[in-house]
Amino acid sequence: MSIIPSSVLRLLDRLRASYTVEQARSRMSHRAELVPQRALRSSRVTDAASIASLWRQLHAAGVATEAAEPVLADTQTLTDAAAYCANIEAMIGTLKLPLGVIGPLVINGLNANGAYYLPLATTEAALVASYARGAAVATKSGGVTTALLNEGVLRSPGFKFAGLIDAGLFVEWVTRNVDDLQAAAEATTRHGKLISLEPMIDNDIVFLLCRYTTGDAAGQNMVTIATDALCRRIEETCPIKPLHWFIEANFSGDKKASYLGLLTGRGRKVSASVIIPGPLVEKHLHVSVDRMMAYGEMANLGALLSGQLGAQGHYANGLAAFYIATGQDAACVSESAVGFTRMERRGADLFISVTLPNILVGSVGGGTGLPSQSAALSLLGLKGTGHGAALAEVAAALCLCGEISIMGAIAAGHFASAHDKLARRR
Ligand code: NAP
Repeated sequence: MSIIPSSVLRLLDRLRASYTVEQARSRMSHRAELVPQRALRSSRVTDAASIASLWRQLHAAGVATEAAEPVLADTQTLTDAAAYCANIEAMIGTLKLPLGVIGPLVINGLNANGAYYLPLATTEAALVASYARGAAVATKSGGVTTALLNEGVLRSPGFKFAGLIDAGLFVEWVTRNVDDLQAAAEATTRHGKLISLEPMIDNDIVFLLCRYTTGDAAGQNMVTIATDALCRRIEETCPIKPLHWFIEANFSGDKKASYLGLLTGRGRKVSASVIIPGPLVEKHLHVSVDRMMAYGEMANLGALLSGQLGAQGHYANGLAAFYIATGQDAACVSESAVGFTRMERRGADLFISVTLPNILVGSVGGGTGLPSQSAALSLLGLKGTGHGAALAEVAAALCLCGEISIMGAIAAGHFASAHDKLARRR
């Protein structure tokens, strides 16, 4: 038996069957004829004319079909074109995604309080149905309890010095000049507040963990601009000169799941929970509380053994659909979709909670002002100033609904049949 893994042998067999060595070499070599004379030219302003200009170039390049242009650059999009100016470059149209809705989801939260209808944009069949089922069970159980527990968006510049002594002297200088640095950062924004500045030394490198509250905005741009001002103030006034520095030294967890984010949070930390009466578990999830607990125990072990950051079923499903529908940065799902789902038997009933430390949402800023996204936020009742914290609690409540439904489906043995019915046999 070969000690080479069979997957490697299979891949080699497949390659050998598809290409000779010469053909492979030719496919992977530089082909000058594919390099265009000119890249696409796009205007910095987005309007109907700039969209039309890009389509002309795509037609000239022979990649645009006649049918594609009116679908992507439809009349409404051309009319609204200027509204997208601050959110995209080289815009050629808008993409229509199916938008579903679930609700009413009753939330008894410190910030979100009432019955909500949640917009979800997805192409995954069964997703909306699953979250709707979780929302119905949670609402029949009296609603989801939510609390915002912490907030703070990190930016983490890094400074390199000649040696450890300089790094130490720099940290000392920062601690003595923190008020001035805070003022420089906060001068760039009305709503952003620097709430902590934590130096982290690794020999001759110092990371400055700058944590901000960001009002109702998700805040990634806000903290970048503020931290840039803080760093430039350091550059101007600090006598201990770094050899070089970078605005983000990849310590903040921006757009990636990290242990730092899991423990200290990035964005808003929210916990959501519900106690589902035993009879409702049986009636709506078609499973007993004991079997739910048995599944939860095995799922936690699976999370542990596989090295999952946190332990949860599928936060990313609901968050991606919710972020896209409401104009959030969908890439932040990579950091937001971590946390812990817990279940406990409470007498005859089932307690379920989710805690997500990295919910990055805003009711202002980012993509929240775009035509469709703004309309979806209005449907939710959380558009504009004063709703950032409530939006984060709704996002966590949504994740709880998804956990109730998926764990119920798996525990009841309906997971495959539900997908088969909803995704394949419609
Ligand atoms: P933003 O749209 O850049 O900024 C929010 C704006 O809203 C600010 O001008 C702020 O003014 C204003 N504002 C008005 N009322 C506010 C209120 N009640 N609370 C907070 N702000 C209020 O959005 P952002 O949230 O800072 O950044 C989100 C965007 O950053 C997303 O589009 C995301 O894709 C992108 N992003 C950027 C980076 C980066 O490093 N730059 C990284 C990841 C993602 P004031 O500032 O004067 O308060």
